[in-house]
Amino acid sequence: MQTPMIDYLQLLLDSCGEDAGEVASYIPELADADPDRLAIAVATLDGEVYVAGDADVEFTIQSISKPFTYALAIADRGLDAVLERIDVEPSGDAFNEISLEPGSGRPRNPMINAGAIAAHALVDGTDADGRAERILDLYSRLAGRELSIAEDVFESELSTADRNMALAYMLRTVGVLDADPADIVRGYTRQCSVSVSVRDLARMGSVLAAGGLSPEGEQLIDPVVNRQVLSVMTTCGMYDSAGDWLTSVGIPAKSGVAGGLMGVLPGQVGIAVFSPRLDEHGNSTRGVRMFERMNHDLGLHLMTSTERARSVSRRVEHDGIAVHEIAGDLHFMEAERVLRGFAEEQAGDDPVVIDLDRVQRANDIAKRMLLEGVRRLHLDGHDVRIVDPWGVLGSAETGSGELVHGEQAHGGFVPASFDDVASAVRG
Ligand code: GLU
Repeated sequence: MQTPMIDYLQLLLDSCGEDAGEVASYIPELADADPDRLAIAVATLDGEVYVAGDADVEFTIQSISKPFTYALAIADRGLDAVLERIDVEPSGDAFNEISLEPGSGRPRNPMINAGAIAAHALVDGTDADGRAERILDLYSRLAGRELSIAEDVFESELSTADRNMALAYMLRTVGVLDADPADIVRGYTRQCSVSVSVRDLARMGSVLAAGGLSPEGEQLIDPVVNRQVLSVMTTCGMYDSAGDWLTSVGIPAKSGVAGGLMGVLPGQVGIAVFSPRLDEHGNSTRGVRMFERMNHDLGLHLMTSTERARSVSRRVEHDGIAVHEIAGDLHFMEAERVLRGFAEEQAGDDPVVIDLDRVQRANDIAKRMLLEGVRRLHLDGHDVRIVDPWGVLGSAETGSGELVHGEQAHGGFVPASFDDVASAVRG
């Protein structure tokens, strides 16, 4: 069977309609881009990438580099030091607006050029090449392959970078830049000239969607930094159309003047599209349309209320022993349902079994809530047994509930049925 995913992506390409707008021309090399290129890629958190169209055609990352470099600047300097120099307020300005916050002189956010140039300057490295190398290394690890810089676009953009140069000199006068503005703009332009395909961008987006974790399990961006980056991308990523974008599409996204557009749906997918003609905000015209359609077809809007937690816990009795069978991934909402089940137990010394056989993951909050529940059941007099064959609770202190790991309880095998659990409890 061919998965319908690919057919759906092809349908998106076929139905995104007539193209409109112009390719960016303020960078001479971009003016030569083939305006008819069209591609889409969707990357899941476990590394599956679905593509359609010109998925291996490369283009320069341009402003889609900004969230990733912001992440590196925070990793290198710490969040407070970065916030001292770059604010996180949406500006409603065009990408290259020469505007700074009155008073502090800080750029309003790291997604417009002023803030992105300041963020680039905060990346460790002795000069433009040093910073660009570290940036390229991070992008490559995010993309899962070695990326390179499109030297022709770099030279072309640097030769016409007067406006970014003006921004950098202005940033220096207000104390946001310490280093030589020309060297900073050179490094920033190299960062914008990294060559990517939609396949690369979708995968880079999927790492952001996974809280900074690569499909291979490597934590490439710290989860707290990742959250900061996604928050800023959500409010400022689409320049002066950020509000319109968030309400109509609802997927945190970043566009670039070469025609790329990357969307990140936290906990779900990374999406990238490519079509070089841009609308009046500087966003890919057909790219925006494809995102709008995806939101409509797939219900991907960030603000669509999540369904209420399904039944995650049920209480059954086997041979007079109460068993709380818990299933699914546990977060705050699901753990609350589990605790509600525990609260139904009358105080007494009868055994209570908590069966986590069908739970493979619990976040820290859910773990703490579960353990507190166990502690309280124990204080009520119950003999609490926890069956945790997958080690969901890890080596956590079990609040006086006896932890029955797979091996101890079942001689080395995962419990297949309640009988295993019951016999373990009866000992
Ligand atoms: N390199 C471009 C610039 O600084 C990036 C702008 C964009 O992609 O929106 O002008």
